[in-house]
Amino acid sequence: MTQSTLASEFELSGVGLHSGEQTRVRVLPANLGEGRYFVRTDLPGAPIIPAKVEAVSQTALSTELSATADVQIRTVEHLLAALAGMGVDNARIEVDGPEVPLLDGSALVWVEAIAHTGLVAQELVHPPAVNGQLSPIANPVWVRHGDAFVAALPAAETRFSYGIDFDEPAIGNQWYSWSPEAESFASAIAPARTFGLARQVDQLRQAGLIKGGSLENALVCDRSGWLNPPLRFANEPVRHKILDLVGDLSLLGTWPTAHYLAYKASHNLHIQLGLALSSQA
Ligand SMILES: [Zn+2]
Repeated sequence: MTQSTLASEFELSGVGLHSGEQTRVRVLPANLGEGRYFVRTDLPGAPIIPAKVEAVSQTALSTELSATADVQIRTVEHLLAALAGMGVDNARIEVDGPEVPLLDGSALVWVEAIAHTGLVAQELVHPPAVNGQLSPIANPVWVRHGDAFVAALPAAETRFSYGIDFDEPAIGNQWYSWSPEAESFASAIAPARTFGLARQVDQLRQAGLIKGGSLENALVCDRSGWLNPPLRFANEPVRHKILDLVGDLSLLGTWPTAHYLAYKASHNLHIQLGLALSSQA
């Protein structure tokens, strides 16, 4: 079997959605079998935080990973989705602060940087030494909360399907099904931006969240429509939910072949499914 890493390194800077802090991210090649991992270069000893589902410490509005109580990295999902979606199995991600920048709210800038940097194949000489390789699932695995759920169903090839349902007519009821075999991550999923509801913005700000959020990095709507059109896709919100799901499930290393089906789910449910799949491996 073969894995891939980056051909060289790249660097991007920006503001974190929740912290509002400016951070710089350097993404570098990593060795075969090392997987994707973060390094907090601003902390003493530059501690490592593995991008593994077992390292998830919080899922309120974004996914946070922790090595210890003092060593965390927040809002990892869009960068991790970009790496997994572009086929980068092994990467060292150095960040000089507590949160990955939101950039334009999508994975597009990350994907462009990865495409520009290029990939190199890493040949496995003595299989099966690589960890984290999950086999296709034999039986359905699913988690639910109220009417929301995420399921992994046995399938011949991987597919991600998602449904959302909002009172705001601008979003309403949207479904999308993405087959990585049929449509590239870069064109179908990566450009879809984070979205939010105007009625929740004040409440989130008061809770100390979304300090870095703005109409420049998130689509926002109220009952009368979008505050900052145009959209990149008519169904941009549900495509973004698939982006988040891909990023969260990338914490499995390589996700098992399955049809992933989600409805009204959250980072919390995505991660619960990841843990359920991980415990079966
Ligand atoms: Zn997101």
